[in-house]
Amino acid sequence: MSSVEIEMIRNQLPGWIKASLPYAASGEVASYIPELSKAPPDALGITLLDANGDVATAGDCHMHFTMQSISKVFTLILSLMDNGEDAVFRKVGMEPTGDNFNSMLKLELVRPGIPFNPMINAGAITVTSLIHGSSPQEKIERILHFFRKIAGNDRLRYDMDVYQSELENANLNRSIAYFLKENGVLETPVEEILDVYIHHCSILVNCADLARMALVLALGGIDPQTGKQLIPRRYVRIARTFMTTCGMYNASGEFAIDVGLPAKSGVSGGIMTLVPGRYGIGVVGPALNDKGNSQAGVQLLEMISKEMEWSMF
Ligand code: GLN
Repeated sequence: MSSVEIEMIRNQLPGWIKASLPYAASGEVASYIPELSKAPPDALGITLLDANGDVATAGDCHMHFTMQSISKVFTLILSLMDNGEDAVFRKVGMEPTGDNFNSMLKLELVRPGIPFNPMINAGAITVTSLIHGSSPQEKIERILHFFRKIAGNDRLRYDMDVYQSELENANLNRSIAYFLKENGVLETPVEEILDVYIHHCSILVNCADLARMALVLALGGIDPQTGKQLIPRRYVRIARTFMTTCGMYNASGEFAIDVGLPAKSGVSGGIMTLVPGRYGIGVVGPALNDKGNSQAGVQLLEMISKEMEWSMF
């Protein structure tokens, strides 16, 4: 039997979707990766999943999209599992900006020249470079295997069209990566690291996959079906903390105030969020706001969180 709360959410979701959808009109689908621009701008879908396997879902929840930056949460976890905390945080910082409270300095000027945190591209590329494997191919396979386990879905795969499209248009990430290589932060060949990074950004999911991945984080790393500890608790805490402080980029503070849940967005319009101990949530809405987060998706989460009083703060 479903919980009373999930029944209530199920009944309300269509109305919440309807009320949030108009916001998509003021957003724009990402086009710097040309393949992403094919996504429907007016789509909006959501899936919530609880530990009993009860689901509430509405809108375009069956649509497939690539994880993009949402993948950074799990490559961070895999990198931590491969290397331990000390090795990872020698190379990447833990702060939203890395600047002192009154600092006017920017990344290029601070020493050591390591990325501020693992959620921005510079940090995520660095974290990816630490993932174990004797070749890029082996790393790519290990990542997919890990993501499938967390999603409880053996059919997760790479979207090779999106991968190819990003690979051919990755001038900015390439610049960042070569800069990091010059600083000695990256220690293996740049093109190989970018290949692995762009692959994991191209993992294809739907809202249910994101919800299940988020549920594992909501439950402290436990597989909801088998009860097995898939991720060490400490690393779940680290991931959830970065989601809260940096997961929505330079709108993370605003999101924390308005929604109050750990979340990670991607430029495909996906948002993965969770209610600690209770729900994993996957959202998609490809039209983005000027911070690169789903315009209608953020609106939808704000509405639900307020109504359900889910804010952690
Ligand atoms: N693959 C994208 C990039 O590196 C991910 C960015 C994002 O989703 N915010 O540009």
